[in-house]
Amino acid sequence: AGQMEKHGFQTEVKQLLHLMIHSLYSNKEIFLRELVSNASDAADKLRFKALSDNSLYGDDSDLHVRVSVDKDSRTITISDNGVGMTRDDVMNNLGTIAKSGTAEFFGQLSGDEAKDSKLIGQFGVGFYSAFIVADEVTVRTRSALDKDARGVEWRSQGEGDFEIADIDKARRGTDIILHLKDDADEFLDENRLRGIINKYSEHLSIPVQMWKEPVPESEDDEGNKVEGQPGEWETVNSGQALWTREKSDITDDEYKEFYKTVAHDFDEPLLWSHNKVEGTTEYTNLLYIPKRAPWDLWNREQQHGVKLYVKRVFIMDDAEQLMPTYLRFVRGLVDSNDLPLNVSREILQDNKITRAMRNGSTKKVLQMLKKLAKDDKEQYQQFWDTFGNVLKEGPAEDHTNRERIAELLRFASTHNDGAVQSVSLDDYIERMKEGQDKIFYIVADSYEAARNNPALEIFNKKGIEVLLLSERIDEWLMSHLTEFKEKQLQSVTRGDLDLGELDDEEDKAEQEKAEEAFKENLERFEKALGDKVKKVRVTNRLTNSPACIITDDNDMSTQMAKLMEAAGQ
Ligand code: ADP
Ligand code: MG
Repeated sequence: AGQMEKHGFQTEVKQLLHLMIHSLYSNKEIFLRELVSNASDAADKLRFKALSDNSLYGDDSDLHVRVSVDKDSRTITISDNGVGMTRDDVMNNLGTIAKSGTAEFFGQLSGDEAKDSKLIGQFGVGFYSAFIVADEVTVRTRSALDKDARGVEWRSQGEGDFEIADIDKARRGTDIILHLKDDADEFLDENRLRGIINKYSEHLSIPVQMWKEPVPESEDDEGNKVEGQPGEWETVNSGQALWTREKSDITDDEYKEFYKTVAHDFDEPLLWSHNKVEGTTEYTNLLYIPKRAPWDLWNREQQHGVKLYVKRVFIMDDAEQLMPTYLRFVRGLVDSNDLPLNVSREILQDNKITRAMRNGSTKKVLQMLKKLAKDDKEQYQQFWDTFGNVLKEGPAEDHTNRERIAELLRFASTHNDGAVQSVSLDDYIERMKEGQDKIFYIVADSYEAARNNPALEIFNKKGIEVLLLSERIDEWLMSHLTEFKEKQLQSVTRGDLDLGELDDEEDKAEQEKAEEAFKENLERFEKALGDKVKKVRVTNRLTNSPACIITDDNDMSTQMAKLMEAAGQ
């Protein structure tokens, strides 16, 4: 072996290790899911590379993951003949955290273990989860891509540092050797390991194997010879990708377990939709809505959660072309029958097949949400409270589905007490007054500010419902949502508010009289306020307040102006 070097972990790795070991002690078994899934990813990556260079396989094209136990030395080894790692890869992958948004994640940690352990589940624990059960981890690896590369050994006790050295390794790929802690005995039991593999890795298309001991030749009760069996590597998972199976043969539990692996979530999904699409474009998708928001939901640059497969071969994570940004909370995969296996991100970007799959998948998600809203109000409310503000980006981004998205929106309203957003536009329309042809709303800084805005006085007096909007995104939303089911959406703080038939003759006469009476005062106000206002006018809209500020129909609303100002415009 070559010179051994010692390196310190990046600070975040130390924090992560500490947090993980303390918060996941009741969920130890997930280390195997993570390590087997990494091994399977490595095999997938090699299979993908080998599509364009078959020689990468050498004389070993039978990709697999093997899990073995050595009770005497108290070790578990997870071994793959996948893509492997170069020395640089090892340094980058197993000493730092390369995930995007890592800083944000650490910024969110509170020091409260219960809270933080939830976060970590969403962050995804990955390779470092080995240290939940091991007091020493050794990684021996050799890259399949760099033919001149030597092997590399990485070793750590999961405290502050790791050691790295060049080694000779005959087989390409990676062996991960875990030396178990005293309290992790249960994982020396092969049946326990088989159980965990069945639970989490059943669907992996790479065979996960365990060694079956040979059975010696023997004799039965009557003295007949019974043939022995040689030892062999036995495949533990069925190896059939879950989404390729018939829907009717898949149990809810299988869907849920699969979700946990694709989404790196500890929780069950809220709902899912599994579709085989045939016709001009052929593909299968399996799309999940999580229960909880991922920790980086608000980062619009965050990786998307939909993986791309082509004919069951894994192609890439986070295929952003497959799902619009306003549905970035969706997790799952799309498996295309039509794309070429050597598809790149560039090809995906402007591609008829991608577009068809994206449109189809988007509709499926919107349909599944619509159905949830109809079937289970409570769960839909949970969804809305978690992801509603992301969905509100929809009308601006996706014109084709504007109406479908609008149906899914929920608002606070003068019809309800409290700030909970539970009123749909359809609910509103159903309650509209006779002669009312518009949907009225107000946008303000907070629910309280909206609720108490003087502009609502006339509406309260006439018993007309007004939607109360107070999220940052709402102004943006409403500037792209001007109509729903042929009804105009009208802000109550804008312009010369026309209540149409809702204004009776008496109101109009009174208004005219007042305008006459106050004419001189108005001119004096305008003169005194100068450039600060465009116009001062008399209104019959107010019943309790002396005055209020409104904007012209074509001008920026006061909310939008504040937003622009905040953005430094
Ligand atoms: P993730 O799998 O989400 O990328 P992990 O912490 O599980 O994060 O793994 C970190 C990285 O280490 C992987 O992205 C991969 O590049 C590398 N890696 C881990 N295990 C293996 C393996 N068995 N073979 C090759 N590379 C691996
Ligand atoms: Mg991983």
